[in-house]
Amino acid sequence: SLAAARHTGCAGVVQRVSRDARGRIRRLGSEERVFNRYQRRAIALRDGGCIIPGCGTPAAWCEIHHVIDHAKGGATHTDNGVLLCWFHHRFIDTGPWRVRMNRGVPEVQAPPWFDRSGRWRPVTTSRTRMLDLIGGRT
Ligand SMILES: [Zn+2]
Repeated sequence: SLAAARHTGCAGVVQRVSRDARGRIRRLGSEERVFNRYQRRAIALRDGGCIIPGCGTPAAWCEIHHVIDHAKGGATHTDNGVLLCWFHHRFIDTGPWRVRMNRGVPEVQAPPWFDRSGRWRPVTTSRTRMLDLIGGRT
């Protein structure tokens, strides 16, 4: 389906290879739209896990979502990537939750049945960030 193709396009690896009639590789696509391990670690530290409130899926099981689609010019940069579990990533474009970045910090708008205010709220489940926010120490 188109939705499955979009999902694969955001998190999966598709590398285009063009060959001529003899089989010579003429063009090799880049994988730049896939977040590298250093970006993934940084995003995991910032987000902690799936950013949808109440989900609880840990960072190691999450995918990184391009908040602005790579196909629409969204950069493969920590300011444009957020952690989502497979389920929330699969349905983020058609589901009730909305995600945006505010100067590099992810914000979520909940569906009306979860939060009637419609406010965008910064989200994280990162223990490090939560301790920073409350000024605590371990
Ligand atoms: Zn989730």
